[in-house]
Amino acid sequence: MQGLMQSYPLTLTHVFRRAERLFPEKEIATVQGDGIVRVTYGEWAERTRRLAGVLDALEISADARVGTFAWNTARHLELYFAAPCSGRVLHTLNIRLFPDDVVYIADHAEDEIVFVDRSLLKAFWPLVDRFETVKHVVVMDDGGDNEVPDDPRVHDYEDLLAKADPVEFPVIEDENQAAAMCYTSGTTGHPKGVVYSHRSTVLHSMGSLVADAAGVSERDTIMPVVPMFHANAWGLCQAAVMAGSALAMPGSNMQPKAIASLMEAEKVTLAAGVPTIWMGVLPELEGRDLSSLREILCGGSAVPKSLSEAYREQVGLPILQAWGMTETSPVATTGRVKSTLADRSDEELADLRAAQGLAIPLVDLRIVEPGTDDELPWDGEARGELQARGPWIAAGYYNDERSSESFTADGWLRTGDVATISSNGYVRLVDRTKDLVKSGGEWISSVELENAIMAHPKVAEAAVIGIPDEKWSERPLACVVPEGDAEITLDELKAFLAERVPKWWIPNDLEIIDEVPKTSVGKFSKKTLREQFAHRQTA
Ligand code: ADP
Repeated sequence: MQGLMQSYPLTLTHVFRRAERLFPEKEIATVQGDGIVRVTYGEWAERTRRLAGVLDALEISADARVGTFAWNTARHLELYFAAPCSGRVLHTLNIRLFPDDVVYIADHAEDEIVFVDRSLLKAFWPLVDRFETVKHVVVMDDGGDNEVPDDPRVHDYEDLLAKADPVEFPVIEDENQAAAMCYTSGTTGHPKGVVYSHRSTVLHSMGSLVADAAGVSERDTIMPVVPMFHANAWGLCQAAVMAGSALAMPGSNMQPKAIASLMEAEKVTLAAGVPTIWMGVLPELEGRDLSSLREILCGGSAVPKSLSEAYREQVGLPILQAWGMTETSPVATTGRVKSTLADRSDEELADLRAAQGLAIPLVDLRIVEPGTDDELPWDGEARGELQARGPWIAAGYYNDERSSESFTADGWLRTGDVATISSNGYVRLVDRTKDLVKSGGEWISSVELENAIMAHPKVAEAAVIGIPDEKWSERPLACVVPEGDAEITLDELKAFLAERVPKWWIPNDLEIIDEVPKTSVGKFSKKTLREQFAHRQTA
């Protein structure tokens, strides 16, 4: 017997119309220069319709890729909806990628037009003549002082909008139509294109509204510090529009002080960023009124227990960890403590929060023996490759023959992360498959070792890589950034680790470094460290 319910397509047009009709008075605040620019959802919706009119007027094809090279701003949110609701595909270009990668991505996706923040023109303009398909460049004046090139391809965003008519969005019958694209940051080989559908984006947004996930609601003021140009600001912007939440956008000013000020001034309730951001922001939060804040969401790389605990002590809120990847839209787990575990000791609770957490509704996870796809038990001990499936998990990459390597025969995404899953469902990432250190035939988790090292009061940041060793094949090298002027010795570190990690994990090799190199999206770049210490011998 079949159900007798309507088959109503899940589209961003519905999400857009809901905000337009129900929340026209709610505000999107964007930092610009020393001030804040505000638009209401009512104004935003009208501008978004005009923007679709601009795309029509410029004769951008019906299913064109619409590129953006931009910070987190209300204008970027206009593009987030004007492109998919007009049947086109939003393509966020990561402003921090190497120029060659940006050119590769824009060409591979066949972007016809790119919208660029004026403050980013210096990085963007030198690439323009290398693009094969880009016909128009629209400059969004965000107060940056870069000169706007005198070139027939260049337009001004506000000029175009002023001349355009607001359009009625077409009905999107097929919810599986593409809505947006985002390329992975390509730590190996060229970046790979993930193509989100209307359906996957709507369901992922709905997932963010689930109370046990981010619990996004109309009462929230959301500050996505995580960029809209990478993994869709974790879907928080679309979720905000779906719920009717206010937004506080940091624009181009990512300085810790500016972020802390915005949090206080806009009475932010939910803020999201990678661990490096929250490390930098914490000292700036001292003495501020954060009484509105209910959630600090953090992910993209492991959240050190010490960081979450420092927030709990200073701000009164531990960090809520989330795990995901571009391929998973990105949120797949959140690290909330189950009510049945709430009576555990403070130490155990801190440990639980340091795990990546529980799969959110509609996401299936499993761990498998690498190379065999045999499922491993959820006993908190067995370590295997984490695999995912669900309605907002990628099924392939755009025009890329590497797709087959990344998915199992039964359709699960191979995440490349190694994890344990406890009997009560907590996923704990042990490492990336490629970052594990193999010593004497046994795996050492670089992530766990880093966490243990970062708990030392004299350590600000630490990254662990494997270096070749004659006897053990590989041994861990601890690359440590000391806290302030502190001096830390190998003996001190060894004594500290003796109680915290298995004996054979303890590094005999220490490098004091000024900072841990970061990738384009602020993650530890082990690749750079490996290159830097390529000839490092074990002691
Ligand atoms: P890339 O930077 O490789 O393009 P993503 O930005 O999508 O891709 O990163 C996804 C990866 O980031 C995950 O596979 C995982 O290794 C890491 N990651 C994300 N969230 C967490 C987390 N909470 N803890 C540890 N690692 C994380």
